[in-house]
Amino acid sequence: MLRRPRRLRSSKAIRNLVRETKLQVEDLIYPLFIVDGENIKREISSMEGVYHFSVDMLDDEIKELTELGIEHILLFGVPDDHKKDCQASEAFNPEGGVQRAVRKIKEINPEMDVICDVCMCEYTSHGHCGILTDTGYVHNDKTLDYLAKISLSYAQAGADMVAPSDMMDGRIGSIREVLDNNGFENVAIMAYSAKYASSFYGPFREAANSAPQFGDRKTYQMDPANTNEAVLEGQLDVEEGADIIMVKPALSYLDVIQRFKDNFDLPIAAYNVSGEYSMLKLAVKEGLLNESAIYEAVMSIKRAGATIIITYFAKDIAKMLKNN
Ligand SMILES: [Zn+2]
Repeated sequence: MLRRPRRLRSSKAIRNLVRETKLQVEDLIYPLFIVDGENIKREISSMEGVYHFSVDMLDDEIKELTELGIEHILLFGVPDDHKKDCQASEAFNPEGGVQRAVRKIKEINPEMDVICDVCMCEYTSHGHCGILTDTGYVHNDKTLDYLAKISLSYAQAGADMVAPSDMMDGRIGSIREVLDNNGFENVAIMAYSAKYASSFYGPFREAANSAPQFGDRKTYQMDPANTNEAVLEGQLDVEEGADIIMVKPALSYLDVIQRFKDNFDLPIAAYNVSGEYSMLKLAVKEGLLNESAIYEAVMSIKRAGATIIITYFAKDIAKMLKNN
């Protein structure tokens, strides 16, 4: 007898019934870039449809996200150049852009889950993700104190979660300790556990104005060739107290996402990064691909095992899900 898998593809209703992976708006985290100044909503030229916002311009954006059902946002600060120094002081300024944005967003929608990216590169004059030694090497253990300080400052502003993206060893443990010691034991940590030294971050560096002034990030971010090392990084973050572990980027690293899913019981996040976004966005704009390619790409991240997807496509996906 001929086996006929096509039977279960014969109508839309049946296809919906047997769909193994379901993408939902609740899975999505939308990144937002916060700049200093007033009255700014400026499109980022390398990322069509993504904007820089000053804090006073967040009302409409948060309302739009809320109406679309998007309940999670990830904040990045993009301070003015003159505020940058070698210790990223502006990152833990209680009146910094991200801190003001957290308070403002909680005013607009107290239900919005506000996550703050924690790193130093947007705030350092040299553009690296930590404190430099004389030779230009990023000093791991000195950097930890600053990451904890920045995390505490975001928690004090009202963040629900912090997301360290620096790839220093031991940061999850030191952030957890400082948060706990200051009464923020309920602020969660989403760890960028396997963050690769990827070329797919290109458009983001324009967005965050965070390109290193010299060298690259290969002494702290991971070699794209490695997956066993990713599992080790995930394991260490779990042991140090991470609540969610992440793989970044997503689309060229679906195998790593699957390894995380197979190895860990924690929620797995994946960051569908700027280069992945801009490639697809441009291809759709040029008519080379149908918009459904976006849905397919984001679905593949979920299918690989990420239950949480950080994506600039969050609005597009929310609209597609609504119209479907
Ligand atoms: Zn960084």
